[in-house]
Amino acid sequence: MMKNRLKILFLSSEVAPFAKTGGLGDVSGALPKALYEAGHDVRVMMPKYGCISERKYVLRDVIRLRKIPLIMGGKEYAALAKSAFIPDTKVQVYFLENKPFFDKKDLYIDPRTGKDFANNAERFALFCRAALETTKLLHWEPDVIHCNDWQTALIPWLLKNDYSNDGFFAKTRTVLSLHNVAFQGVFEPAVLAKIGLPQELGQKDGDMEFYGRVNFLKLGALSADYLTTVSPSYAQEIQQNETLGAGLDPIFRARKRELVGILNGVDYSIWNPEIDSLIPAKYNAASLKEKVVNKQALAEQSGLNFDPTVPIIGMISRLTEQKGFDILLEGAEKIFALNLQLIILGTGESRYETGLKALQRKFPQKLALHFKFDDELAHLIEAGSDCFLMPSRFEPCGLNQLYSLKYGTLPIVHATGGLADTIIDVTKDPAKGNGFVFQEYSASALYEAIERAVGEFVAGKEWQKIVKRAMRLDFSWKSLAEKYVKLYHKLDSLKRKN
Ligand code: ADP
Repeated sequence: MMKNRLKILFLSSEVAPFAKTGGLGDVSGALPKALYEAGHDVRVMMPKYGCISERKYVLRDVIRLRKIPLIMGGKEYAALAKSAFIPDTKVQVYFLENKPFFDKKDLYIDPRTGKDFANNAERFALFCRAALETTKLLHWEPDVIHCNDWQTALIPWLLKNDYSNDGFFAKTRTVLSLHNVAFQGVFEPAVLAKIGLPQELGQKDGDMEFYGRVNFLKLGALSADYLTTVSPSYAQEIQQNETLGAGLDPIFRARKRELVGILNGVDYSIWNPEIDSLIPAKYNAASLKEKVVNKQALAEQSGLNFDPTVPIIGMISRLTEQKGFDILLEGAEKIFALNLQLIILGTGESRYETGLKALQRKFPQKLALHFKFDDELAHLIEAGSDCFLMPSRFEPCGLNQLYSLKYGTLPIVHATGGLADTIIDVTKDPAKGNGFVFQEYSASALYEAIERAVGEFVAGKEWQKIVKRAMRLDFSWKSLAEKYVKLYHKLDSLKRKN
């Protein structure tokens, strides 16, 4: 039987605030904290990237982790681990260091080519192996290893194979959380030798075989004791068809009894306008006048004329097809005929940058673009906008719509995944509505939702009431972390999957 106080090892390729490119980073910074607060012994491991400041986060050497024995594919690798705490918490994070692999400013993409690092398979396979060896050196036997996405998806298989005769992990169970199944870690079969995995895994009917290549997430999805996704709707969607399941849908269907959707929460110590030190004017539901101060700062910083009677719609997003930029560009002429201003913060595909820049030239007072990754500006957009736009084609959970609710910035969303689970349309349900939802993924449905939002803002009668209702909602991690704890306990009674 597992004890009440669980030992949980949380593995992630990004953890906020140390290194983050998206929602995974936010979750990996917040969920371990909530598990710790619930009384568990949680430790986090992540790669030590070059962009992580040792000084700022006070990384310390750990004597027994100065040399982690690592052999992968017959080759010896040097690795060590340093440790620090997630700021303002007692959650210990171990940073696994191998300079040639991880001493880079970027996490996944090589800035010289704009493409994934050519050795990403080796980088994250090494991270997986180093994490297990580090755990052994710590003499700390985890009850659960909680893996996240493809970068840590080899762990369940390694435990059941390379470590099967090693008593150390005999009681350890594994959970693999799927934050976005569109990212799977797919490589040429030649990497198998380099990462020390048997060739059979990549052959016909092999557990990694994927259209002639090898797939990290597939192996994880087949070998983990339990799978989770980041919202209940997304857990259903990935089983539905090849598009939403990104080709792994048969596996998700086969494992539906060990697959559950648990919504992501919000870390309100970071995303809360009442205490947010990154915005010009703090506010809450009783001091909404202050929100306008942020709106003015946002408009000015974006080079737009400030007009409190014109709604500002904000967007913070990777510029990719997933996030709905195709229908936004398609519907733009009609959308900009409305009396609104749109401010976009994002990085990503150049085709969308080009399309947006052309629009911006046409509507210089209606569209402002910030093509960069900027956490401070992200907070200002949440605080200063009236609405927040997420027209995602699919969205495993989405965090910005949840942050937006807290900032009284009403979300306009496509009804998919976590967006469908969290945003209630005000027209359909005037008593409970907290945003504007469109059902069909099309430029015209998107336009119709934006038009309704602008109409409601201009009418003004109900606006403040809806905003206050949105701000009162609670998506904190506490109750969600409890769901994970229940799941960890359930694993104990499951037979280990082979
Ligand atoms: P995803 O993980 O698919 O990118 P999420 O909505 O789950 O989307 O999470 C995105 C997180 O990354 C949010 O915290 C968001 O504010 C942040 N983010 C995305 N793009 C930027 C950017 N250009 N600048 C600052 N923060 C960003």
